[in-house]
Amino acid sequence: MTRPALLILGGTSEAVRLAEMAVERFGTSLRIISSLAGRTTAPATPAGEVRSGGFGGVTGLRDYLAAEQISLLVDATHPFAAQISDQAATACTQAGVPRVVLERPMWPQEAGDDWRIVADATEAARTVGSLVAEDPTLGVLLTVGHNDLAQFAGIAGGRWVVRTIEAPDDVRPDATVLKQRGPFQLAGERRLFEQHGIGVLVTRASGGAATAAKLTAARERGIPVVMIDRPPSPPGPCVDSVGQAIAWISGRMENR
Ligand code: NAP
Repeated sequence: MTRPALLILGGTSEAVRLAEMAVERFGTSLRIISSLAGRTTAPATPAGEVRSGGFGGVTGLRDYLAAEQISLLVDATHPFAAQISDQAATACTQAGVPRVVLERPMWPQEAGDDWRIVADATEAARTVGSLVAEDPTLGVLLTVGHNDLAQFAGIAGGRWVVRTIEAPDDVRPDATVLKQRGPFQLAGERRLFEQHGIGVLVTRASGGAATAAKLTAARERGIPVVMIDRPPSPPGPCVDSVGQAIAWISGRMENR
């Protein structure tokens, strides 16, 4: 008889940890399949089976759930990967596959933080544009997603540092590009801010320990952080740790 399968929608460090723990805990009774979008070169390889590339929208994902006899799905994608999360919610409802969202908690704001929370990259670019207009030599550290970089390309002035995992296409030609992948330690972040004279940090409200040190570095320097707010959480049940996701899978296995 074919073993039932757990599908983990991944692309995050939490998804990699979840796959590892799920293989350890349930590997004999459950196929563990991680799905990656296939955007980054040399992504961390999760334990268990791995598939890569889009499914082809809701219909494609629904067909995949049926073909692979997926009996449980954990959406452990990045909080800003809204499209795949919405599609997973719809496909699972249509296919009757139980689904949970593993959403990492947002970073807490602390005393001394100067966060300017904005709705999207357009508003972030407007906010940074005003700061650069006041001080054309301002050092700006951009740690936003690939897709959002173009928004900042037209701002006149400023000294720009862009940190991304993959070499970006739409980056402003005068930017210093740092092709780096977290986790980032506080000592390194302090050095980076100091070396480039960073006066404003632009980031998305991603949460997670791997990239939290930049917020401490910004707080210590007393500089503003332009924080792009998260899109709304996907509908349905949600857990905020890998341990809770394992408990959810365990509960579902017992009820089978
Ligand atoms: P998105 O906008 O929500 O999704 C765009 C399309 O990419 C989806 O419609 C789907 O294609 C495909 N896709 C996305 N995640 C997939 C997955 N795990 N497995 C298979 N197909 C997937 O996603 P995104 O923001 O571009 O992010 C892509 C991936 O990178 C996600 O897995 C996410 O966890 C990871 N990631 C994203 C960010 C971020 O800032 N957005 C940061 C770190 C990691 P089809 O419609 O063809 O199925």
